[in-house]
Amino acid sequence: MATADVIVVGGGVSGLGLAWKAAQAGRKVVVLEREARVGGCLHSARRPDGYWFEMGAHTAYNSYGALLDIAVGTGMAGKVKERGPARGHFGLLRNGEYRWLTPPRILLQLNWLEAAVHFPLNFLRKKDGETVGSYYSKLLGHRNYERLFSPFFAAVPSQKADGFPVEGAGSLFKKRPRRPEFVRSFGFEGGLQSVCDAAAAAPGVAVEKGVRVTKVARAGAGFVVTAADGRSFDAPIAAVAATVDQAPSLLRDDFPALASAIARVRTVAVESVGVVLPREKCWMPECAFLVPIDDVFHSCVTRDPFPDPRFRGFAFHFKPGLSRDERLARVSQVLRVPAAELADVVEQRVVLPSPVLGHAELVAEIDRALAGQKLAVTGNYFAGLAIEDCVLRSNAEWARLGG
Ligand SMILES: Cc1cc2nc3c(=O)[nH]c(=O)nc-3n(C[C@H](O)[C@H](O)[C@H](O)COP(=O)(O)OP(=O)(O)OC[C@H]3O[C@@H](n4cnc5c(N)ncnc54)[C@H](O)[C@@H]3O)c2cc1C
Repeated sequence: MATADVIVVGGGVSGLGLAWKAAQAGRKVVVLEREARVGGCLHSARRPDGYWFEMGAHTAYNSYGALLDIAVGTGMAGKVKERGPARGHFGLLRNGEYRWLTPPRILLQLNWLEAAVHFPLNFLRKKDGETVGSYYSKLLGHRNYERLFSPFFAAVPSQKADGFPVEGAGSLFKKRPRRPEFVRSFGFEGGLQSVCDAAAAAPGVAVEKGVRVTKVARAGAGFVVTAADGRSFDAPIAAVAATVDQAPSLLRDDFPALASAIARVRTVAVESVGVVLPREKCWMPECAFLVPIDDVFHSCVTRDPFPDPRFRGFAFHFKPGLSRDERLARVSQVLRVPAAELADVVEQRVVLPSPVLGHAELVAEIDRALAGQKLAVTGNYFAGLAIEDCVLRSNAEWARLGG
């Protein structure tokens, strides 16, 4: 049995954020990650020639102070890459027609009469108890919301966001202090995954990749973590930072109340297809992303904010349930490149939380089940899906256990 001070299950930004904090405090940490790479949703698809593009998260902000602490501590702050002018350009695809927009032009798409009727009556409205859909429908008018805002909001978490709480736990947008010494929106050289790679390589952190954990159990005053390959790891502190769909099965036997609370968080699968094309094969104007209305995908995110002289990269985030051929056919239609010519195809399926009203109570229930245990649970199903929400949750869990 392998021994450490802290065992972390899951090598996404939540798990590595906690591992990094624990290592900073002088603990010996082992991170167990089921995939062959760390990063989870921070997935920078990299080619041997150095070109990379984002299959998952694509943007960090200077309001992500906890993430920036890791960047500074791991030496990644010097590798921050500012997003270029394409960040302010978007495509809207409706009924086969493309419109190329900037934020002011998006406002021109509004039905202003409808907005003018609704806005004055509702702009002081409290957000408490409202969903994204109910709040913005009242503020801007139902048709404006359905036509324009709902698809744009869906592009943010790669799923319909109408039912998300508009504020508090599970909400999409949070006001946080900015760190003006950093540019407003950025990635890292080599992609956002680089910050996870750096945390994984920090002194005191050891990562075992390709290890799928099947159980986290109590053992004396500590924990024993069992993997599918039969190995087990013990430590006085354990942290579960696996995806929301996996965590309950790991905890079911020894922590049934905790497992059943986590299992009540709603989830959705996102099936993504990424492709790289030589510039000369791309018809699409440079833009940060394309948002379709009533389509089989939620968004197509490009690498254009970090332009490359040779290539362009596109990640399509699909609703679940299509076959691989159907996904590739849609990618080929939108990019106007025959499916057979789509080289360097990267595919990924992730399960994300899909918070609804009442999420804060569910989080409180999870925290009650955790109280008094040397077990941390972290991930994107607490304060929210944003990278910063994940790192802040990990920091808070570390402070509760070992800080
Ligand atoms: C397409 C997309 C775009 C996004 N864009 C942005 C963005 O621009 N900005 C932003 O702030 N956020 C963005 N997000 C959200 C954000 O990236 C995620 O919510 C966050 O990275 C989740 O981190 P995590 O560590 O909690 O979970 P994950 O990244 O899912 O990591 C969990 C890890 O646990 C591992 N694991 C699961 N089960 C086991 C097991 N049994 N044993 C061992 N390991 C296991 C998984 O393999 C995975 O590596 C985006 C998400 C997606 C999917």
